[in-house]
Amino acid sequence: MRSPLNGRRAGRVAVVLALPLALSLSAMPVLADPAPQASEVAPDRQSSTEQNGVALLRVIVPDQEAVDRLNTMGVDLAEYKRSVDEGLEVHAVLSPEEAQELRVLGFDVRGAISDQTDVAENRAARQEALTKAAEAAADTDTLTPLRAEWFTSLDGEYFLAVEVKSSATDAQTVLTATWDSGKNTAPDSGGTTTMSRFTDAGQYMYHRFNSPLALTAVPTKVTVTSNRGGSVTVPVTKWLGERRKAPSKHYVADFVDRYMDPTELTGRITALAAEFPKISQIVDLPNKTNGYRRAAQAQFGTVAASTLYVSSKAYGHEGGNDISVALVRPDAASAALSVSVSGKDVVVNLGTDGSGAINSTAVQVVTALNGDAAASALLTAATYRGNAGAGLVAAAAATKLTDNLKAPATVSRDPFQMKALRIGKKRDGSKTGVFLYCQEHAREWVTPLVCLETAERLLRNYARDAETKKLVDDLDIFILPTSNPDGGHYSMYDYNMQRRNMFNHCDVNNGDPARRNSWGVDLNRNFSVGSVFDGYSGASTVCTSDTFAGPAELSEPEARNQVWLTTRFPNIKFAMNTHSYGGYFMWPPGAYKAAGRELLPRVDYGTENFFWKASDHILSAVQSWRGTAIWPGRTGPVPDVLYSAAGNSADEHWFNRGIIGWDFEVGADVYNPETKRFQAVGFQPPFEEGHEEAMEFAAGQIGILEVARSFSGDKKQPKSELSVTGQTGTSATFTFKTDEPANVYYTLDGSRPTLGSTKLAAAGMRESAQQITIDKTTEIRWFAVDIAGNVENNYKPDGNGKNYRKEKVKVGDAR
Ligand SMILES: [Zn+2]
Repeated sequence: MRSPLNGRRAGRVAVVLALPLALSLSAMPVLADPAPQASEVAPDRQSSTEQNGVALLRVIVPDQEAVDRLNTMGVDLAEYKRSVDEGLEVHAVLSPEEAQELRVLGFDVRGAISDQTDVAENRAARQEALTKAAEAAADTDTLTPLRAEWFTSLDGEYFLAVEVKSSATDAQTVLTATWDSGKNTAPDSGGTTTMSRFTDAGQYMYHRFNSPLALTAVPTKVTVTSNRGGSVTVPVTKWLGERRKAPSKHYVADFVDRYMDPTELTGRITALAAEFPKISQIVDLPNKTNGYRRAAQAQFGTVAASTLYVSSKAYGHEGGNDISVALVRPDAASAALSVSVSGKDVVVNLGTDGSGAINSTAVQVVTALNGDAAASALLTAATYRGNAGAGLVAAAAATKLTDNLKAPATVSRDPFQMKALRIGKKRDGSKTGVFLYCQEHAREWVTPLVCLETAERLLRNYARDAETKKLVDDLDIFILPTSNPDGGHYSMYDYNMQRRNMFNHCDVNNGDPARRNSWGVDLNRNFSVGSVFDGYSGASTVCTSDTFAGPAELSEPEARNQVWLTTRFPNIKFAMNTHSYGGYFMWPPGAYKAAGRELLPRVDYGTENFFWKASDHILSAVQSWRGTAIWPGRTGPVPDVLYSAAGNSADEHWFNRGIIGWDFEVGADVYNPETKRFQAVGFQPPFEEGHEEAMEFAAGQIGILEVARSFSGDKKQPKSELSVTGQTGTSATFTFKTDEPANVYYTLDGSRPTLGSTKLAAAGMRESAQQITIDKTTEIRWFAVDIAGNVENNYKPDGNGKNYRKEKVKVGDAR
């Protein structure tokens, strides 16, 4: 039972304020007047600023007649009534004296739903919001443009996506975007729209379009204005590079013709390794899964108190499915409850009373079964979902237990040997490794096809296509088509919306057969960085939740296999975790603590820019198949564009091993030119659509391999420039620019810059480089280092050389 205080929420407090507080005493004749004169009592229900203990209290009454009586007495009842064990619960606005009078009259007046403390808290919160709004209104807000881009999609339509951040973070700030319709057109000729305010975990993020807007012409500039007075005009750039050319005419593709179960997928990569032994091999992952298997079960009864269920000790296929249980009413009066077992047939002889009627309750039958040595060797009995089981059971004919599993015999019921396909000419750990893994979530049926298609393309084009040969020669590629084989089988044959693995961590209170589709661990929440066990948001500790993180970090063999692979092969520098659906391209960090939206550390500015540049290459590859553009608003760090996912695998790989852990959500929304709306595709679209998604994201995975290859061969040193962006008489502002994604380390005190010096940061989420302000003439010393570790001018940050960059920025008279 919840305490009344737990139920105190703002919505109910509003009821207090909305109802008239004045109570006419004449309307309450039955209430004894505690004071000699009515005028001395009335103030006890004063205006809402002086409530003198008036509170919204729970009153428990036996029946409707008592409610009517309260009503007739003129008691101030809230518009609320519900059945409880003792009768009806109503809520009344009462002063302490009125409450006492009702108690004297025999009413059961209980704790407060809300009282003055809540009112005070609400007032304070409201005042704080008003003050903030007034402060915001007093100042013109500053608008920071984050992104303004156009792109084409599918059938060649044009779309516009804009993101702008206001310095006024309150909900009254309204931003409007206006754009032209091409060069030399009026600034508002393209259109105008109100932007959406994007918040997450209660915090203002920025304003954006909910989905990209269809355009008739490509705009050159967009102007965003705020009702707070802010305004900014920015050029509209093209999102994603030119469409890539089709690969050479020798290039072969399209190797998937149906959705495939994990047994088929694993068989297919095993056959590929056998066919291409010189450039590939199978890597057996060390932890077998629990397997596509379940205990066999049967349930007896239809009413909770009279219901019990049994679960076999052996898995269904290992004998559990052969067990039967019968609940027999003996043909005798005053019979004692007993259990008899013959082979795998369990008979419960129910107890009867003097008239021969059954008098065994569910809990008595459970106790008898669990207490019988022969029966308890075969099975475990339990009442229904923790019920006390005091109801009498009904007789039932012999019932076979079943594991309910529907997959054909081609799917083994044994623990599953997970296999990764390793592709590379030189597989000795000397080449940059890339780990492509799919189907962590069982129901995302397109994703294993993406991994399989990528593997086929690499192997079958090796001898035909020069670009493919470079990838296979220069990289060490690990492909795991199904990261959740047991759940994958279950999704295909038993419950198509299964997301998690199959393992049942629930106790008997959630172990009944009707719960069988609610068991399992969300593998992408079972990892050890930023997990729910560390206090991060976006996973559950409830065993029946679809985001159940498991009983502990890395409790599941499937998750431990990923950790093993990325540890055993430390040359792995990139990983791609492919999910569906929605059309996203994301990177770490992937989780935050809800309180204060405290993120796992963001990647540094140079790495973030590397991710954005890589996304242009990778997403252009996705687009090359049928024109699908992943939206800029669905590209970026996980929590900026989707939500917090505590304990996900990409964070595990990045924070524990420095592996760039990207995520795809395949299945971008498809634009319908007739309705002018984007439509979501779902987890299991018709195969015709699923096939297209597999083709385009296999191209995306190959784009990732190209990024990895150019990273591995990157010997080019970055170049940087210091750029002074503002000067007043008393200060100067500057920043740095680099010719490729790189980090800049700098000093302002004339010391030699090292990797311990201040690192140039972004000005904010999705913003460009920060501006650094100085108040006296300063010699800035710095160097740039790219993601592959190349240092500008071959400077040695930990050496003694002076070949760092330096420049004097002047302030005041010195200019
Ligand atoms: Zn998923």
